[in-house]
Amino acid sequence: MTLNAGRLTKIIDHGKLEKIFDVFGFTDYRWIKPPNIEVAHWVRFKCIFGCSSYGKKGTCPPQVPSVEECRAFFNDYSEAVIFHFAKKVEKPKDRVPWSKEVSKKLIKLEREVFWSGYHKAFVLFMDECRLCNECTGTRESCINKDDARPGPESLAVDVFSTVRSVGYPIEVLKNYDDEMNRYAFLMVE
Ligand code: SF4
Repeated sequence: MTLNAGRLTKIIDHGKLEKIFDVFGFTDYRWIKPPNIEVAHWVRFKCIFGCSSYGKKGTCPPQVPSVEECRAFFNDYSEAVIFHFAKKVEKPKDRVPWSKEVSKKLIKLEREVFWSGYHKAFVLFMDECRLCNECTGTRESCINKDDARPGPESLAVDVFSTVRSVGYPIEVLKNYDDEMNRYAFLMVE
């Protein structure tokens, strides 16, 4: 254990966790300190005004904690990992099966990290939750409560600033067939 931000925290064995990432084929990642994860009110405003998923997904606003609670959540951790996923799709709907497949692997990874002794392990998907073909729309009615996780934007993370701070690429895309750079997060302590 070590003293971190005024509390005792578990020392992270990066090598041990990186071996687990390798098993899942997650080889493109960077470690980040949670205070460097940017949380901002403007992200929540973008969800409320301008996103068609608002009110329709069990892990998106308004089904999520306040921006202040999200900030407090990130402060509960001493380390985080950003996983990078790059992909080109021909049609917008091709993104859905890819997102679902990656999310399923991320949940398995979270469990593996949990079982390896990091009881606070928590994954944020690289996208809104797409585990089901049709989302029930609320947290209460979610049919996969064990596995559903929010994406970073749902928790008011400014993904653009955060991933750029560790040297990852991200741009606003103008065309659906441009290569996407998507990012999932693993919170660990
Ligand atoms: S698991 Fe299914 S019902 Fe639950 S939030 Fe995800 S897509 Fe919606």
